[in-house]
Amino acid sequence: MQTKGKLIVISGPSGAGKSTIVFKAIEGRKDMCFSTSVTSRCPRPGEVDGREYFFIDRERFRQMIENDELLEHAEYVGNYYGTPRKFVEDKLADGVSVFLDIEVQGACQVGEKMPEAIKIFVIPPSLEELRRRLVNRGTDSPESIENRLRRAREEYAEADFYDYIVVNDKIEVAAAELQAILTAEQCRYAVRSHWLKEV
Ligand code: ADP
Ligand code: 5GP
Repeated sequence: MQTKGKLIVISGPSGAGKSTIVFKAIEGRKDMCFSTSVTSRCPRPGEVDGREYFFIDRERFRQMIENDELLEHAEYVGNYYGTPRKFVEDKLADGVSVFLDIEVQGACQVGEKMPEAIKIFVIPPSLEELRRRLVNRGTDSPESIENRLRRAREEYAEADFYDYIVVNDKIEVAAAELQAILTAEQCRYAVRSHWLKEV
């Protein structure tokens, strides 16, 4: 019997290092993948349509909501973001675990629809360090950085429904913590109990 993949929700302030540590944790693994979201935000320099995001206009975004093509969606700092449903459902059915890098409102929607999803909140060691990373990343205007910092403070206050917190101070340590969570989830009684029937 094909075991279903796991849905893993990663949230945390923009610039906390979510994509950095997820890519490090799943490097070379064929049983895990990242979902590519749709967004109405404009591409940043270097971003490629279909890689970081599918960049679509607001009208197409509204159509996707109406056609129930999105598993979840939310507005974040003036732009829309959403997770295409079909990709996620197909991968899970194929036994591949799927990472969603989504903000708190979307994570809450996923948690309600799919309570078995693993929800992880990634934070930087401080908001000052977050500002430094956003400035160093060089992809956001000063105004956008201030909006993201403001939203980070709001998200911290809304984050009480997550299962785990990873503090991304050193990348290697944070990626190892993420891997440890995935390993622990794999050892859950509910996942492993079929072994008890086989002995
Ligand atoms: P997110 O996906 O959460 O928006 P990114 O993965 O794009 O964040 O990381 C934001 C920036 O911070 C990138 O320039 C990345 O290289 C850098 N970064 C990520 N983790 C660390 C870390 N532990 N220490 C220093 N810089 C980091
Ligand atoms: P950024 O503009 O920095 O790429 O992303 C801004 C925020 O949108 C981040 O917190 C990111 O996690 C979130 N985000 C990205 N894709 C989605 C999505 O499909 N749904 C939701 N709800 N949030 C998303």
